[in-house]
Amino acid sequence: MRTLTPEWTQELDRRRDGLVALRRDFHRHPELSFEERRTAEIVADRLHAAKLEVRTGLGRTGVVAVLHGDRPGRTIAWRADIDALPLTEIFDAPYASSKPGVMHACGHDGHTAIAVTLAEILAARRAQLAGTTVFVFQPAEEVFGGAEQMIAAGALDNPRVEEIYGLHLTTQTPVGQVRVMPGPSMASADFFDVEITGRGGHGAYPHLSADPITAAANILLGMQNLVSREVAAQETAVLTVGQILGGTKHNIIPAKAVMRGSLRTFSDDVRAQIKGRLAEYASNMARAYRTEARLTFEGAGCPAVVNHERETAFVRECATAELGPGALRSEPPVMASDDMSLFLNERPGCYFRVGIAPTDGRPRPHHAPEFEMNEDGLPIGLRLGLSVMLNALDR
Ligand SMILES: [Zn+2]
Ligand SMILES: [Zn+2]
Repeated sequence: MRTLTPEWTQELDRRRDGLVALRRDFHRHPELSFEERRTAEIVADRLHAAKLEVRTGLGRTGVVAVLHGDRPGRTIAWRADIDALPLTEIFDAPYASSKPGVMHACGHDGHTAIAVTLAEILAARRAQLAGTTVFVFQPAEEVFGGAEQMIAAGALDNPRVEEIYGLHLTTQTPVGQVRVMPGPSMASADFFDVEITGRGGHGAYPHLSADPITAAANILLGMQNLVSREVAAQETAVLTVGQILGGTKHNIIPAKAVMRGSLRTFSDDVRAQIKGRLAEYASNMARAYRTEARLTFEGAGCPAVVNHERETAFVRECATAELGPGALRSEPPVMASDDMSLFLNERPGCYFRVGIAPTDGRPRPHHAPEFEMNEDGLPIGLRLGLSVMLNALDR
């Protein structure tokens, strides 16, 4: 483990304003999942100018850029997600979103700016650099589609990546603090629909109908027992129904009702167990009400982010060396999800969180119109990223 030399530190200081300006440019021009054309073009242009080998159009709008150091070494990837969310920003700044209904409300503008700047810094000192660095700019994290497509398009092959790292900025952690956790650190996510089909009729004569609304209500309450009665007490899971659709009027029993929900957990076994039992449970319960239930999951979902032990210990060492021993914050895993998990299922690595909490004490939740980052956290993420990459390439 080597700490950054004064030359690298000077390079970081020199790029600080450019890093913030680039983040603000992405923030001003947010793009939704799989529509990140402008963002991808800027990334590709900048890294092309820095003389990296750039491949575009991976997983539709993704970019992969490869940097060969002059010395032999390992092949290490850095991943950044680049998409924004369908929200209208309420923060008033010259660099606020110029697109109503689209907003960088998760910090991916910062992730992209950090990754571009990191690539430029390493490229500028290629002569001192060992090994091969692969920068993966992934589209569509927010819909859990981008990572799968980037992997299928060969983002981790050719050159074959040995380890992968990346960061997520978080407003839940103060600037200067980082969260680097071994094992499960972010939850899996699966979205499902339960469609209940009955027989419609007059609200005054339910005995002549098969009421899907009553069936849905009972299925909804009962499904929570899958968590409390069928999952081992040491494990955790959350089942949430966020939408119920059905019916038109006070006194008409509809023929159909739909419930839409999500399942989150930290273990593949628990995830498979509940997914299997939910289907059985819903259809058996529906039958008790003379209705039929059909459960469908949207896509393949997103597995839990599970950091690898050795690579996580390594990032913790880098964080202690560069940011001081007080920088490491230990907090329980978060229930949010991220498809970085798919990369970590393919290669060892670590996904860590870097604090960007504003100092005025007002909450700035991710995925909310009032999201706002403290940009002082950006150079800290960049510094830790640089330390991780330099040390991993040369290990
Ligand atoms: Zn997000
Ligand atoms: Zn995110």
